[in-house]
Amino acid sequence: MSSERGKDIAEGPSRVNPGDQQLPPTPSRYESQKRRDWNTFGQYLKNQRPPVPLSQCNCNHVLDFLRYLDQFGKTKVHLQGCMFYGQPEPPAPCTCPLRQAWGSLDALIGRLRAAYEENGGSPETNPFASGAIRVYLREVRECQAKARGIPYKKKKKKPHQGKGGITCEKESNGREYNMIKSIEDSAQFGGFGLLY
Ligand SMILES: [Zn+2]
Repeated sequence: MSSERGKDIAEGPSRVNPGDQQLPPTPSRYESQKRRDWNTFGQYLKNQRPPVPLSQCNCNHVLDFLRYLDQFGKTKVHLQGCMFYGQPEPPAPCTCPLRQAWGSLDALIGRLRAAYEENGGSPETNPFASGAIRVYLREVRECQAKARGIPYKKKKKKPHQGKGGITCEKESNGREYNMIKSIEDSAQFGGFGLLY
């Protein structure tokens, strides 16, 4: 599944097709968000001591970046000792930390992975495509699913929604589709809002 997604992204930014009048002239939400994320990541690398040149950026920098973002998270993830651990709707507040929801991180990585190659990075060295990132995201997903009592599984689509059930101006674009899916997921779990 991830290899399929990689294929979409590897096709690169060449989406300008003169004969295709479906594309809007203004950048899509996805494109602007991707640009913002890319700038944020670039700034993060610059702020390291010593600063990390993009050419030397590896998956460890990306993992550190994801952990760094947790301080801006809005999703309550209960610690194992919390009495609300595993409860989807706790009846009272608790002091457990707020984190980035898994869906937000997953969508972010997808955008940065595309941005890296659109900004001249080679697919072979793309740190966002690293297996370590996939492993990390899977761990976050499992940990959050247990702590919040919410399984991160695909919900069965209602019949009337049909294939995919998502209206999207660029349904032919795999990345856009992935992005919308991820946003749906993260919005559903209350964690959307990364980097705003
Ligand atoms: Zn708690």
